[in-house]
Amino acid sequence: MLKTGKEYVAGLKDGRVVYIGDQRIDDVTTHPAFRNAVNTIAEFYDLKADPANRAQMAYEEDGQLHSAYYLKARNRDDLAKRSECHRILSQASYGLLGRSPDYIASFVTGMNLNPELFGQFADNVRAYYKFMRDKDIYAAHAIVSPQAARDPAFYQRQNLPNPSCRVISEDADGVVVSGMKMLATASILADEIWIGNILPLAPEAKAESITFAVPCNTPGLSLWSRKPLEPTARSEFDAPLSWRFDETDAMVMFDNVKVPWSRVFVHNDPALSRGLYIETAAHSYGNHHSNLRLLVKMQMLVGLASRIAQATGADQVPAVRETLGRLASLEALLEATVAGQIHAAEEWPVPGYVTFNRRMMYAGLNWGVENYSAVIDCVRELCGGGVLQMPADISVMNNDELAERFKTYWQTPQMSAIDRMKLFKLAWDIVGSEFAGRHLQYEKFFPGASFIVRNHNFREAPWAKWHGVIDSILERMQPGGPIT
Ligand SMILES: Cc1cc2nc3c(=O)[nH]c(=O)nc-3n(C[C@H](O)[C@H](O)[C@H](O)COP(=O)(O)OP(=O)(O)OC[C@H]3O[C@@H](n4cnc5c(N)ncnc54)[C@H](O)[C@@H]3O)c2cc1C
Repeated sequence: MLKTGKEYVAGLKDGRVVYIGDQRIDDVTTHPAFRNAVNTIAEFYDLKADPANRAQMAYEEDGQLHSAYYLKARNRDDLAKRSECHRILSQASYGLLGRSPDYIASFVTGMNLNPELFGQFADNVRAYYKFMRDKDIYAAHAIVSPQAARDPAFYQRQNLPNPSCRVISEDADGVVVSGMKMLATASILADEIWIGNILPLAPEAKAESITFAVPCNTPGLSLWSRKPLEPTARSEFDAPLSWRFDETDAMVMFDNVKVPWSRVFVHNDPALSRGLYIETAAHSYGNHHSNLRLLVKMQMLVGLASRIAQATGADQVPAVRETLGRLASLEALLEATVAGQIHAAEEWPVPGYVTFNRRMMYAGLNWGVENYSAVIDCVRELCGGGVLQMPADISVMNNDELAERFKTYWQTPQMSAIDRMKLFKLAWDIVGSEFAGRHLQYEKFFPGASFIVRNHNFREAPWAKWHGVIDSILERMQPGGPIT
């Protein structure tokens, strides 16, 4: 099924429990903290459902049309189709939505190349994939235990339960879970939430190894929003990105939530709870999306850097052109990393299916963790003080006298005052606003802290091959050989 934006919005009016501080939000689709973000996701669905986009964004299976990101790839063309679908969808939001509907859907599709890994729960994983695909479901995920849970002894001493989400009882119908998970980006906008563990668990953490998915309005589940950023934008003119693209982040709290067995994917198995991401194509499919989304964002940032240099007249200065050239080369490197993942596709994890090249995908993740802040800093330097020279907001144009003075004194040989204000408001929204700060944090941490990302790169590297290169040199270095 290809859901429309209208159908998506109707599905969100489901009584979910969302808190902003002590305020309970009744309807996220109309609340000023979330309504524009809801519209952005509705536009995502409409773009995908548009018959004009069918060739790139849909495929047919079991007699129905489905979103291309549910396609289980059997060859490079299939991977290219998935990739192109992510690209078109990311371009509509300038790469600013990390957890758009195609992200978790890709994880679940990747898991379904070898669902047998899930043992007794394999059929549940197959059924969940079909459910998501057939209903065009938007899922978020929270797969990290809260920072408060890292010292279990602290809670034991006080006779308190560890705050991490865990099974507290089970019966013939399912399990009951309580506790928290971080940090569910987009859960406030999504239909479903997937809970699991991307970090290795201790072997004794059996209760915490529970992996499951439930609707966001499940009784006992509440979403504790961070400060919403949409209301920080007074108008689209003043903060065009905060206005439309705050995808939200929330802690997920479970208070005696019943999860039916049909929605349980891992139970009492700490190793599988983490292993399912890296022993199936889940990580590869999901994070190819992340790489591509960051590429689209990078293209927006390089374009912005160049426009700012033009606006200040610095674009002809050799040192500034060198900076722009450096940014362009970083963009090209990321583009090559994304393309390479298809070119060097792997027949993995089972014969007959292919996966985006995992080493290149992990390199792309590390590229983002290491370079995003530096790229933003480049854009910041190009802005100079321009971003803070603009009037507080566009209401300045409502007063004829102030408007006239603004138009006269803020113009430059390159640009009218209004056009400069537009450009610098956009720049501030990705460089200096709270929205910008949240994006700096996102790009550093969304795939896990940097040491986790580098550990993936370490794990997948062909050390034996590289050691063989060194050994072949060492082999030649025999004592007793000719000396000149
Ligand atoms: C904006 C945003 C959105 C997010 N969205 C999601 C989401 O949708 N779903 C989800 O599941 N998670 C999400 N995350 C959470 C993300 O997965 C975690 O932030 C990430 O795993 C890091 O964990 P942490 O924040 O607890 O940091 P910590 O693990 O506490 O690390 C904090 C700092 O200490 C350092 N550190 C800690 N331990 C070590 C060590 N052993 N060796 C070296 N350095 C160490 C880290 O490098 C880091 O700099 C999001 C995070 C952010 C910031």
